[in-house]
Amino acid sequence: MPRKRIEMKVNITRLMFFVFLFTQPIFCSAEQSSVIARYSVKYVGNDRFSVKAAFALPTSRLDLNHHGAVGRPGGQASSVYELKAFDSHNNPVAIEYKDEGTWRTVDASARRIEYELVADHDSAIWAAGKEEVATKFDASYYFVGDAFFLVDYDWPKTGRIHLNFELPMSWRLASPWRTDGDTLVVYGPDALGRNAFVVGNARSRTQQVGQLELTWLADERVAPAARALAPLFERLPLAYSSFWKGSPDQQLSIFLLSDNLTDGGAFKNSFAMRLDTPLRDSEQPIWMHTMAHELMHIWMDQSNDGIGRREGGSLYWFTEGFTDYLTIKLMRQSDLLDRTMTAQRIANLIRRYAVGRRISVGTGLQAAGDRKHENWELIYGGGAVIALLLDAELSANSPVAFRDMLRHLQHQGGKPLDGNAILNLMDENSAGRASAVFREVDTGLTLGKIRERLYAAGIHVESFASDEVYVEFAECRQLLCADSLWGQRRSEAIGSTLK
Ligand SMILES: [Zn+2]
Repeated sequence: MPRKRIEMKVNITRLMFFVFLFTQPIFCSAEQSSVIARYSVKYVGNDRFSVKAAFALPTSRLDLNHHGAVGRPGGQASSVYELKAFDSHNNPVAIEYKDEGTWRTVDASARRIEYELVADHDSAIWAAGKEEVATKFDASYYFVGDAFFLVDYDWPKTGRIHLNFELPMSWRLASPWRTDGDTLVVYGPDALGRNAFVVGNARSRTQQVGQLELTWLADERVAPAARALAPLFERLPLAYSSFWKGSPDQQLSIFLLSDNLTDGGAFKNSFAMRLDTPLRDSEQPIWMHTMAHELMHIWMDQSNDGIGRREGGSLYWFTEGFTDYLTIKLMRQSDLLDRTMTAQRIANLIRRYAVGRRISVGTGLQAAGDRKHENWELIYGGGAVIALLLDAELSANSPVAFRDMLRHLQHQGGKPLDGNAILNLMDENSAGRASAVFREVDTGLTLGKIRERLYAAGIHVESFASDEVYVEFAECRQLLCADSLWGQRRSEAIGSTLK
């Protein structure tokens, strides 16, 4: 991995300008006493942004994120030019690039920095996808904060960070950050780094959904998808908030980008989706599901205390598999999936599990998470089948038992949970059924056994070999309505209030 050393260069004229700019008091009122950093961004033309920052605390380490990229061994750091650091007396401080997006000052700490950020990220192919980094579209620039702002992630978690942008007249900024006059206020380094924003001519749309202000902005090439997704933006936040009995932060920004592959990335209170362009109507079920899946991650991780996650892959069967199943369940209940597509989606989950067992032979569900991409089918399929079987079983007694079992996970004070801790907590509200179903799926449940288990709940599963799966729903029987995955659909709810 090549290392880049950024040499100190001092330009006295520019230095004096910054001395003036950043010797303005950071702490000017009681309310602002917790401001930990102030960033000033100016677009200077030719895809270049001038960034200046002043820190309340002496800072010796600054980070960008680092993603693998073809054509960019330096990752996001290669877009940073002429980084300079200064101490509290505005004396230059040497700063060196170490590796993987990390810079360190050499002899003294820095109280302010300046650099140019060049929006040249489209010259590389990013392994995680450009939605995790940055891209230019139409006459606008999309960035994830940790590809743009050099940040010390050890700063206080909720310390205030102020941002000011100086942009051309016709430009707008779309971000999930709050505004206070001309200043954007961000709480904590994570909220700055782990969020996406757009600057440029692109215009966003905003929709108020309950307490939540939802803003979305689309690349022109995917504008038809943005229109098709409007019902999803209108209905799902309500369905998710009702399911979890809580909603994430008051603002949520969604960015739709054009690409040659469909995928998405979720951040703190924003997320981005890239769509295979030109758009094909036939692909709509895939991007609708991807969007709804990413939204579900935000609700799971941020409503109430959020579900705390311990590092490592032992809980991916839960975070990905349950998310996939809940996405289908709540899309159906919001009338965003019809009966036929719901059946196909459930068949896909079961098939994915069966195929995953053949791909990841001898690998347990928790261990599979350590190699997520190799065991993708087993993790997503296995986790979703656990959720499906548990919901089928618990719903036989109460239509809200599965929901309440999951809500319990969000009230653990954000304690980091691994796969076993998740199971223990679910057992507390399922009389131990969560672990029992997990064990069966982990050991290997045949398609015949899955058919037997789901038949009683009104889902008829037929299969052949490991890759043919057909699903049909029985007629509703009082509380058990498999067609609605055991809950009431939006149209039924509206119908019942009309009667
Ligand atoms: Zn996911």
